Amino acid sequence: MPFSTFALTEPLLRAVSHYPEPTRVQAEAIPVILTGGDLLATAQTGSGKTTAFVLPLLQRWVGAADQPKRNRPLNTLILVPTRELAAQVRNVVQECAAHLNERPKVVSAVGGVSINPQMMALRGGADFVVATPGRLLDLVERNALSLSAVLSLVLDEADRLLDLGFSEELKRIFDLLPTRRQNLLFSATFPKKVEALALEWLHEPTRIRIEEESGGAPDIRQQAIRVDAEKRTPLLRHLIEAEDWKRVLVFVGSQYTADHVAMKLRRNGIRAWAFHGDLGQGARSEALGDFKNSHFKVMVATDLAARGLDIFKLPVVVNYDLPRSPDDYTHRIGRTGRAGESGVAVSFVTAENEAHFRLIEKRNDLRLTLEVIEGFEPAVTADPRQESAGTGGIKGRRKSKKDKLREAAARKAAE
Ligand code: AMP
Repeated sequence: MPFSTFALTEPLLRAVSHYPEPTRVQAEAIPVILTGGDLLATAQTGSGKTTAFVLPLLQRWVGAADQPKRNRPLNTLILVPTRELAAQVRNVVQECAAHLNERPKVVSAVGGVSINPQMMALRGGADFVVATPGRLLDLVERNALSLSAVLSLVLDEADRLLDLGFSEELKRIFDLLPTRRQNLLFSATFPKKVEALALEWLHEPTRIRIEEESGGAPDIRQQAIRVDAEKRTPLLRHLIEAEDWKRVLVFVGSQYTADHVAMKLRRNGIRAWAFHGDLGQGARSEALGDFKNSHFKVMVATDLAARGLDIFKLPVVVNYDLPRSPDDYTHRIGRTGRAGESGVAVSFVTAENEAHFRLIEKRNDLRLTLEVIEGFEPAVTADPRQESAGTGGIKGRRKSKKDKLREAAARKAAE
């Protein structure tokens, strides 16, 4: 089914003419959004979901009554969890709008950078705002924008928004929006808290569930390698060289480890860079740009990079440290195998975290064989008591104080 079957104006069709056909989420979401209905979509990043909501929302904006050039009332609000995702979504809006005669004014409102340029940018209003929740509320409090005329609201990566502890901010934002509006919720996973959010705020939504083809992750080959914790960096070096990996995203559990592993790789002649929330916005954008342009080979990142980053043709993702939650595993490996490309996701499993790995597998309906690489055979084996304990390193449902602190830190890093 070609894009031309949708009721989209010609300049919008031209913007996606380089794509052979709509992806599944696009095919299912675009008609619903065009009619103004609410939508609840479970779709991974990489499924083409951004274009799936941007195209019809632009069409609705074009079709709306005359657009005033001064004091533009905010038409569409897109809430995202991180500033990187905000930048990507804004780019997609601008790319899709590039051929329109009248182009919308698109402003990105994210934390972690000075608020003044955003206040300036919002002078005279904006048609589309892509925002992280905390900064959006700051701007509203300073009367830099009003949400009272919003026609469509998008919650992108709703699961991540909630993981980062934004639920209070979201409630405050919903209260500022007109009651009659279109709500679109996109989430890679669908835990209870996302369901609760949807139940409370969506009005008879059309549900779309884009399963990853054939149940698992079709074009992502998942691999688990058993290794001693202190041998992980040498193993990583070995794999980069032996497998001739051209570009690798390595996930670690802390900013310190990111810096440390990147430094160790550099010392061994491998072009590597760290990416985490402690870097300023400029440094993060630059690192991403350099990575995309292959100026370096390995990006060692915290979970900040797990969602929303669209790094063209990323062939390999390595879990140097395992993710804390099974959902984050999905997000991390989703950085590869995007838009039809195949990818490899490798997890390093140590004796200490093997029980945790089993839990990640269980929650993701996976069962991988733990491989051993010649020359890196582990000396330490898993404690069988830990394995039978089943829940390993994962905490129960109730959040501990530590979890809350972590959440707050992650949120701070993201904004
Ligand atoms: P997203 O799920 O929005 O993060 O999209 C991920 C990737 O899919 C981006 O690199 C887009 O350029 C690409 N993409 C979006 N729509 C299509 C399409 N119809 N066909 C092929 N690739 C697409």
